[in-house]
Amino acid sequence: MKLRKASTGESRRMGGRFSEAAQQLVEVGRSFHSRGWALGTSGNFSTVVSRNPFRLAITASGIDKGRLKARQVLLVNAQGDSGRGPLRPSDETKLHLAIARTREAGSVLHTHSIWSTMLSETMAAVGGLRLEGFEMLKGLSGVHTHQHQEWLPIIENSQDMAALSRSFEQVLGRYPGSHGVLLRAHGLYTWGRDLAEARRHVEILEFLLEVVGRMNSHASLEARPSRH
Ligand SMILES: [Zn+2]
Repeated sequence: MKLRKASTGESRRMGGRFSEAAQQLVEVGRSFHSRGWALGTSGNFSTVVSRNPFRLAITASGIDKGRLKARQVLLVNAQGDSGRGPLRPSDETKLHLAIARTREAGSVLHTHSIWSTMLSETMAAVGGLRLEGFEMLKGLSGVHTHQHQEWLPIIENSQDMAALSRSFEQVLGRYPGSHGVLLRAHGLYTWGRDLAEARRHVEILEFLLEVVGRMNSHASLEARPSRH
């Protein structure tokens, strides 16, 4: 990666912020793995280390999140390049960059939980999932009442990351109030002004996705005709 000429003090500060961010992302990875939100190599996590020049700490591709180590977190520039090294940044780095740019997010977290996978598939025809009436909505930034209506748009999944990041930018522009986006049969993206807020958003949204998923399963069981 081409870094602009930085003073020794500046690069030392950047190095310090990067190693602190890497440690925090390791902790997030292990915690989310233990909750079943990022099993195996799934999920990826990032934190903005510097805005000018733009630098993002992001988990490397293909790493087991239950055994994530700080050296498996890479520093990338605004194009997603990490320079030479044995590891490459997450395949979904472009999506993190699109969110960090569009939402001015300080951190982007992506999970592959069972409930986000199921609901993003079952609700895909509607184009999104509406969450309303739940007290837990108040954990989302700027939300002060359970009457808040949260819309989580659902984007069709793709392995073409350039096309997917364009879809993300369109959807984020169309729904400026949304706190998260679902990728169909894939998982949840959420963000925050910093890692603590992004992490809280994962906890809140994963809780609500599970509530809605369980309520839907219960309702479909109740609707079955009795065999008696
Ligand atoms: Zn993913």
